[in-house]
Amino acid sequence: NLYGDRGNVLCMEQRLRWRGIDVTVAGVPVGEPLRGADGDLFFIGGGQDFELEVLLEDLAGGKAAEVKAAVEDGKPFLAICGGYQMLGNFYRTWDGVQCDFIGALDLYTVGSEKRMIGNCLFTCDDLGGAGLVGFENHSGKTYLGSSVKPLGKVLSGYGNNGEDGLEGARYRNVFATYSHGPLLPKNPAFCDLLLRTALE
Ligand code: GLN
Repeated sequence: NLYGDRGNVLCMEQRLRWRGIDVTVAGVPVGEPLRGADGDLFFIGGGQDFELEVLLEDLAGGKAAEVKAAVEDGKPFLAICGGYQMLGNFYRTWDGVQCDFIGALDLYTVGSEKRMIGNCLFTCDDLGGAGLVGFENHSGKTYLGSSVKPLGKVLSGYGNNGEDGLEGARYRNVFATYSHGPLLPKNPAFCDLLLRTALE
């Protein structure tokens, strides 16, 4: 629940209920298997470097393969900050710890000593360039490979790395962003885009 990430789940639940659509939220604790086929929409929140390192063993024990398969299968994902980094190939922390991650998205992250912190504003290509607002706090700089598109462009803040003006990542039905906030209550049209993707 870093920077209110769990609020995104509450937001999705509430917007579904308002429309009379049943919803069940299931957590996936460390040590318990993830079954990609059982979910219609997956959420991975942020986490600090320490927590990401703690999860490595659990990922290697089967979850990474399951997430990768679900992504390839077209399952919708919303992944934020540490969760976004975790979907990529690896994360090398600012103090040199190498975290080999899920590899579901062709991207990687390298930590820098200067943290990128503050309110942010970026465009969302899937919403015709509409602006999304949020809050970012990360040391990781993320670089996208050729098979991954950005979620949009930075208007204010740092985005993926503070260098190329890009924010977030899009691949199949994966939406990944550095923006906490919580993101979805602040940007209901983006919440509905995710719900619509899952329903379709
Ligand atoms: N550990 C990551 C970083 O500092 C992600 C932090 C976060 O999820 N806010 O880059």
